[in-house]
Amino acid sequence: MKILTYPHPSLQRKSGSIKIFNKELANIAKKMFHLMYKLNGVGLAANQVGLPYSIAVINPTRKESEEIVLVNPRLIKASRETIHEDEGCLSVPGVSAQVKRHLGVTCEYYNLKGEKAVLDARELLAKILQHEIDHLNGILFIDRLSAEERQEALRKNPLLNDKDENIK
Ligand code: ZN
Repeated sequence: MKILTYPHPSLQRKSGSIKIFNKELANIAKKMFHLMYKLNGVGLAANQVGLPYSIAVINPTRKESEEIVLVNPRLIKASRETIHEDEGCLSVPGVSAQVKRHLGVTCEYYNLKGEKAVLDARELLAKILQHEIDHLNGILFIDRLSAEERQEALRKNPLLNDKDENIK
């Protein structure tokens, strides 16, 4: 398993809903956590490693007890209040930019056993949830910037050239 970086097409693809909850799925989640910790990330979505499934792993603290696996997650509520803070992404190395996010969100998802769960989150956790659910919908944080902000952010990394103007 390895991380794919912008502008890999997998990052622009909407993930498919998971219907079967088996050992293989649990194994994928385990490998994703492993890679995320290795890269010092706080969240990782399956299409970032080239898997077209709606699963993401999250851990803002790196404590094993706080690991969250989100299968088929979706936001069911979002606060009107927003925050505008720096964000980065393992798939867009060396780039960070201020992104507008909801301060609080409620996320409905399935755990690895296939049980439906609801998570209420604020601030950092809410931000991570929005970032990862965006990934599963084929959206990167740089897609949430204005054209000028996006160019400015990508210019910070000499390895990235924002040639493809057609990406939303
Ligand atoms: Zn990301």
